[in-house]
Amino acid sequence: MKIYNSLTKQIEEFKPIEPDLVKMYCCGPTVYRDQQIGNWRTFCLSDFLHRALKMNGYKVDFIMNMTDVGHLFESEGDPEGGEDKIEKQSSEEGRSAKDIVDFYTKRFLQEYKEMNLLEPQKFTKATEYIDDQIDLIATLEDKGYTYETSDGVYFDTSKFEKYGELSGLTVENIREGARVDPNPEKKNPTDFALWKFSPSDKKRQQEWQSPWGMGFPGWHLECSSMVLTELGDTIDIHVGGEDLKMIHHQNEIAQSECATGQKFVNYWVHGAFLTVDGGKMSKSLGNFYTLDDVKQRGFSPLDMRYLFMTAHYMGPLNFTWEAIQNAKNSLKKIYEIISTYEHDPKAQISEKYVNRFNEKISDDLNIPEALAVFWELIKSPVSEASKLNTILKMDEFLGLKLQEHIGVEIPKNVLDLAKMRGEYRKNGIWDKADVVRRQMLELGYIVEDLPTGEYKVKKKF
Ligand code: AMP
Ligand code: ZN
Repeated sequence: MKIYNSLTKQIEEFKPIEPDLVKMYCCGPTVYRDQQIGNWRTFCLSDFLHRALKMNGYKVDFIMNMTDVGHLFESEGDPEGGEDKIEKQSSEEGRSAKDIVDFYTKRFLQEYKEMNLLEPQKFTKATEYIDDQIDLIATLEDKGYTYETSDGVYFDTSKFEKYGELSGLTVENIREGARVDPNPEKKNPTDFALWKFSPSDKKRQQEWQSPWGMGFPGWHLECSSMVLTELGDTIDIHVGGEDLKMIHHQNEIAQSECATGQKFVNYWVHGAFLTVDGGKMSKSLGNFYTLDDVKQRGFSPLDMRYLFMTAHYMGPLNFTWEAIQNAKNSLKKIYEIISTYEHDPKAQISEKYVNRFNEKISDDLNIPEALAVFWELIKSPVSEASKLNTILKMDEFLGLKLQEHIGVEIPKNVLDLAKMRGEYRKNGIWDKADVVRRQMLELGYIVEDLPTGEYKVKKKF
């Protein structure tokens, strides 16, 4: 399998540390509100990778975290200078931080299922790894990588030689380009908080005692801590959106490698952002969409999934209502076509098409071309029963729940109507034939006239 590695900036042959096992981690949601559709593009990327690895015969140990504390808003150029997202949402909604987190975690898990993403080994929650995070800071402190300011414990990035290897932003070049540093107590502009002290003037809902004082962990720390605790010092693949590469992932590398002395991640995979109406999604433009918004407009989560598959994960993808309508039409067409196929579990899978399909997904997840192979199969002269089994095999990757749309039985009353329509047509009574056609449509069935003069009845999706 080949994959683009953001660390080396090239497409590489994928080689896991252990021959048959892949250790993979994806930065998951911050559970303070519903996820927007852009987040789902990234979560789907982790699923595509997960499924491609499984198609290639690997066992995948996959962890996705849920940030339920410590993700701060950016403020005046300082990435961690603003309020805590969860605490802020809690005061806006007038519910406790715990209620907010529980509520949006549940919604996230429900939507995760609806998008048909394979479950990870574990969804790890930042608040369940506080002790591990404190231990990690203590290790970094012992090794001399930390310093304290009035608002927290910071990581000194100038002590990590490889800082900037992933992001391209080194301590020096950021210092040269920096205007006034928003946090003058930091030794270097790239330094980041490992532990933040609770403010003295305001009681926080989420805070813990630590050797440095009451407070809460810095956001970057949780991912390092969960990876090291759950998967080990070095993992194969780390996934996230492209926005995380510059700071979050560079900081994950710094704190993990300084603590363990080992390489943290072999392959970094970053997905491009989903744009909406050609730009960044924003509440003020009224185009900040959640999956719920999409569902309310009559689209299914799987329509969304199909849309994500029409672009390469590193390429641009722009969400518009027209784009998702096109995805929905394609998926509907697939459902309609396969519902007419005869299902014979013993029919041969076409190795040729499966291999071509696998080649595409194994080539740095070229899903648009894999879909082209899928459509080519549908139009090919392969027998319907073989086609269907080949399609079901491909769906182990596509995750479009095609199994649910096969072998659809047409009820007898619908078949009788079709027969009646056929008689009317034979006798040239076109208006009556059309009335029956519409009657069938109301029952949810369409009738297709074949060039041979026969007809086929299909379920309408
Ligand atoms: P967050 O909850 O903001 O931490 O984001 C969760 C994941 O979604 C991260 O991996 C982000 O990089 C990713 N993400 C956020 N916005 C977008 C977007 N518009 N397109 C693709 N991925 C995104
Ligand atoms: Zn992360």
